[in-house]
Amino acid sequence: MIARTLNHQIPGFAALSIITLAIIGLAMGCNAIPESARMEVATPNSPTEPLERFGLLWEAFDSDSGVIASGQSLSHILSPAGMSAGEIARLTQATNDEYDVRNMRSGKSWWIAYDRDSSATAAHFIYQRNAREYARFSLQEPYAVALESLPADTLIQRTKGTIENSLYVDLDRLGAPTSLALAMANVYAWTVDFSRLQKGDDFDVMYERTYVNGEPMGMPRVIACHFQHRGRALPAFRYDQGEGYDYFDEAGQSLRKAFLKSPVEFSRISSHYNLKRFHPILQKTKAHYGTDYAAPKGTPILAVGDGVVSKSSYTKGNGKYVKIRHNKTYETQYLHMSRRAVSAGESVKQGQVIGYVGSTGLATGPHVCFRFWKNGKQVNHLREEFPPSTPIEKEKMNAFQATVQELSTAISALSVARK
Ligand SMILES: [Zn+2]
Repeated sequence: MIARTLNHQIPGFAALSIITLAIIGLAMGCNAIPESARMEVATPNSPTEPLERFGLLWEAFDSDSGVIASGQSLSHILSPAGMSAGEIARLTQATNDEYDVRNMRSGKSWWIAYDRDSSATAAHFIYQRNAREYARFSLQEPYAVALESLPADTLIQRTKGTIENSLYVDLDRLGAPTSLALAMANVYAWTVDFSRLQKGDDFDVMYERTYVNGEPMGMPRVIACHFQHRGRALPAFRYDQGEGYDYFDEAGQSLRKAFLKSPVEFSRISSHYNLKRFHPILQKTKAHYGTDYAAPKGTPILAVGDGVVSKSSYTKGNGKYVKIRHNKTYETQYLHMSRRAVSAGESVKQGQVIGYVGSTGLATGPHVCFRFWKNGKQVNHLREEFPPSTPIEKEKMNAFQATVQELSTAISALSVARK
């Protein structure tokens, strides 16, 4: 029924040996690093076995562990451990108010801790409820259950390298978590197109990660990053000026950028985004996925944000149009131009003229039909809530600058984790 292997070696403890660096002053004064975090160097292949586990002095026990199989109940696991049906029934009843064992699910891990001194009596049963939480049952009278959480550690690590292939591949090569690529792409979503990184781009990143039992949980979080993209230094520092963490450059400018409110100055909205609009030319109900800004023919149309032109083209309906990819989430599209001023593949800056108002395609008069794409879907940009891109406030500038100094010192003091 249950493969029984008494093991002293604890599975899942691919241990990280931790060297706590004496940068204590730093962790105290700096709001970008939580006080509980430890600066560390990961050396993956030196196992250390913790003394305590599941709130028990684990080394005092022999342990057995497994995964609950489909259809397996508590008695299937505890009978082979030497408990009688009556004992299991009393245990279940005594602990039912705190934890109903019928909630145990197949696929979850369990452990039994056997007392080493009293002829290997089963003393504790541990059921892992999820990555953090477990239930620990006392298998000797008085029967009881304790619902507890595994301790989590926040470790701070550093990875440094040069792009040879793609950030993802290069992080893997350097022994860093590949999910760090996504974390970094989020930090730089408004400034760097991570699909267009170049060979020779440099990165030096300090990040934190939560570990439970030596296993990482969740995404790594960037604390500070020096990124050299096409020869341009793009530092990013995490800072909380009262509304949660955000990323700033060393001058305190937010790395996020707001979109322009509209692609044409001095215009009026002549038709709103409307899924049930009556089309003036087609004479039937047709969803209007854009916002129309009416303006005289030849009025410049501006890119609402930095990005790369993904299309500069013509169709019967759209007329001459331009589409811009701003980051992995947002694209914007500008229809009915009289003339286009950019071509596909070109990088554009916010406010740059990308074309001129016209009435090419299906249009009754000169206007730009502005379409806003979010994750590949057209949405009403006037209804979208964009994260604010507030720079560091004046009165917080000194504290911010101090943090930047501390983070810059910290990042260079950390040794670089390598495979
Ligand atoms: Zn339109």
